[in-house]
Amino acid sequence: MKTYKIAVLPGDGIGKEVMPPALKVLDSIGKICGIGFQYSEYDWSCETYLATGSMMPADGMDRLSQHDAILLGAVGYPTVPDHISLWGMLIPIRRDFDQYVNLRPVRLLPGIRCPLADRKPGDIDFWIVRENTEGEYSRIGGRFAEGTDAEGVVQTAVFTRHGTDRIIRYAFELAKKLDRPHVSSATKSNGLFHSMPFWDERFEKMAAQYPGTRIDSHHIDILAARFVLSPEYFDVVVGSNLFGDILSDLGPGVTGTIAVAPSANINPERRYPSMFEPVHGSAPDIAGRNIANPVGQIWAASMMLDHLGEPEAGRMVLKAIETVLANPAAPRTPDIGGKASTTQFGDAIAAALHDMR
Ligand code: ATP
Ligand code: MG
Repeated sequence: MKTYKIAVLPGDGIGKEVMPPALKVLDSIGKICGIGFQYSEYDWSCETYLATGSMMPADGMDRLSQHDAILLGAVGYPTVPDHISLWGMLIPIRRDFDQYVNLRPVRLLPGIRCPLADRKPGDIDFWIVRENTEGEYSRIGGRFAEGTDAEGVVQTAVFTRHGTDRIIRYAFELAKKLDRPHVSSATKSNGLFHSMPFWDERFEKMAAQYPGTRIDSHHIDILAARFVLSPEYFDVVVGSNLFGDILSDLGPGVTGTIAVAPSANINPERRYPSMFEPVHGSAPDIAGRNIANPVGQIWAASMMLDHLGEPEAGRMVLKAIETVLANPAAPRTPDIGGKASTTQFGDAIAAALHDMR
């Protein structure tokens, strides 16, 4: 039996509540498909930071590197500034493990109220590919003429050919793999003088290597409007770190709720473990009550299966989620109109998997 080593980081708040249902679903699918999982659970979190002064131990990255994949809940705590949780754990993992692809599905699930009129499940179904390591999110720049009337800041964005080409190539390869040969690019070459003309140039160069793939380029402002007006138009959308970040929350917003959406931080070459997490954060406002929706975390586990080379198992987990959501009598959490607990909702999804055998 093939066994995968999974580093489990539940993190803070509802991360600790949505992780057990995801592991339960993984164990169920493992039994059905003959796959084993060996979990190492680490309690690294903002709460660890408050107790010890750091988010994770000094050998944390070394320990993570021994695994095939990382399943993350959420980190964040009201009294801990975001930059501590980000720069103390998440960004080192993304950068040191060269997880240069952030991949997010945008898919309208059954039983979820879509804020757009007249859309049914299946109408909205596309993928956002975000560059995850360079671009606008750089520490280069600084303040000048501090304290004078001439005071200002410079914030530098860095787009390398290597970094730009590899994310765009991933988008084209994904479109090919999905058999949906259509890639849309997010740009703003009419406003950003250097970076986006370069991005456009690399996008067109890459497109030339995929003659069967339809391409289009949209300025980020109109692209945001098109996400809302005609989301069915898209198949694969590729964007820089900043544009991809914004689009990849807009996508789940357009499909009704961030609570059910997953996010994958991928090192496609598999030199390092990739990390899978829900889009939502630690949600301190509802933590500790066993009412958080576990679907984002379970769907993240489904994406992890796909990445590990178990696409059939991943597909079955997503199908089980959809089966439960499509049944109005099945348990669901309060955020999507039900009365069930996190545990009951997770159990229903695990049970739906058994019924699929
Ligand atoms: P963090 O600082 O960790 O990002 P946050 O305060 O930004 O946390 P989010 O987790 O991003 O909180 O959630 C934003 C809102 O969505 C909150 O009101 C939260 O209760 C709700 N929410 C998020 N995830 C879920 C979920 N899985 N189930 C139910 N509600 C959720
Ligand atoms: Mg947040």
